[in-house]
Amino acid sequence: MALVVQKYGGSSLGTTDKIKAVAEKALTRQRAGNDVVVVASAMQGETDRLIKLALGITDLPDLREYDSMTSTGEQVSTALLAIAIQSLGGKARSLLGFQIPIKTDSAFKDARIERIETDRMKKLLAAGNILVVAGFQGVDPDDNITTLGRGGSDTTAVAVAAALKADVCEIYSDVDGIYTTDPNVEPRARKLDKISYEEVLELSSLGAKVLQIRSVEMAMKHGVPINCLSTFGPATGTLVTTGDEEMESVVVSGVTQDRKESKITVCQVPDRPGVAAKLFKPLAENNIVVDMIIQNVSEAGVTDISFTVRKEDFARARKIAEQSAKDLGAARVLFDEKIVKVSVVGLGMRSHAGVASKVFETLAGGGINIQMISTSEIKVSCVVDEKYGELAIRLLHEAFGLDKAPAAKKPAGKKAAKKKSKK
Ligand code: ASP
Ligand code: MG
Repeated sequence: MALVVQKYGGSSLGTTDKIKAVAEKALTRQRAGNDVVVVASAMQGETDRLIKLALGITDLPDLREYDSMTSTGEQVSTALLAIAIQSLGGKARSLLGFQIPIKTDSAFKDARIERIETDRMKKLLAAGNILVVAGFQGVDPDDNITTLGRGGSDTTAVAVAAALKADVCEIYSDVDGIYTTDPNVEPRARKLDKISYEEVLELSSLGAKVLQIRSVEMAMKHGVPINCLSTFGPATGTLVTTGDEEMESVVVSGVTQDRKESKITVCQVPDRPGVAAKLFKPLAENNIVVDMIIQNVSEAGVTDISFTVRKEDFARARKIAEQSAKDLGAARVLFDEKIVKVSVVGLGMRSHAGVASKVFETLAGGGINIQMISTSEIKVSCVVDEKYGELAIRLLHEAFGLDKAPAAKKPAGKKAAKKKSKK
């Protein structure tokens, strides 16, 4: 007998008919002899609808109230799912974050899970219930309702799987796995059977709509295998697990674009120690995640600093950057919301040279100008003009031969150059 955590995204819960179908799936799994925990997102479009309500009143809603409100979508979907399971003759109980409880910090809208109590869940499972857990939400030390960031139900699912020591965490959505790139952009995209946590981390943070990044970090930390599957499609998906040698033999696993960021450039800041700290500290204090940073020191003793933030944080980041620029005596601040970050990702980059130069050559061949570059051990990213995003994806997908299944060969000999980044 296994303990299975299944997470269903909003698209799988768009209508009461879909909710009934999900109830059936969960019940079938339980009747096959498993303990089943279902983590549910809000019904399709509901969280967006709720956010729009708040933003219709003000750009900068109080975040405690924002969380109280945006968490309600999951209260509805979990109760409906429990009702649907019961109506099929099953036993089910829904639990909200505070009822479990899922304890988080107080960073409203982006809270981190700190601890999950398992007693109540275990008792309900032992009594034969399918447990339906509300995704995306928790409770802080002062009993305020918190939410875990957009797509946070994935993180709830993995955290619950880790806490209950589940055998697998299945993430169901309307796509049947993780692809070499977005099939809507490149029809020749190929589904991957298996991918490493590290690669998915890069792909998620780079905008591939696969899994919430925190869920993958958590799965990697606790060794929870994640199976990404289609709710109403084929039973084989993509397994996200620990990287092995076979995965390392593939240089590039995926190409992705991220349109969720905007660029801010603070021009002609006096070049002296502490400038970057003064600029980025207030952003951090306001929970604004800064992604790429580029600093160009010019001869005249001034420097330009460009960085990217998520579009949803842009209004706040802009205000803060303008204030900091004034305090630092910078000449001006420029904003560019029409950018896209294009990236290639692959575990094999650790042991294969020339990936970055091939990316630059490929983009140059398409007449695409590169505005910013960043790399990690297993990733090369370039910021380019928004209008070239899809072209860049197709060119890179082709250049790295991603449309063809990799030859099923193991790397020759011992792991000679392993872990040496040769980009
Ligand atoms: N309902 C939340 C959202 O739309 C959480 C989730 O779907 O995972 O972001
Ligand atoms: Mg969702």
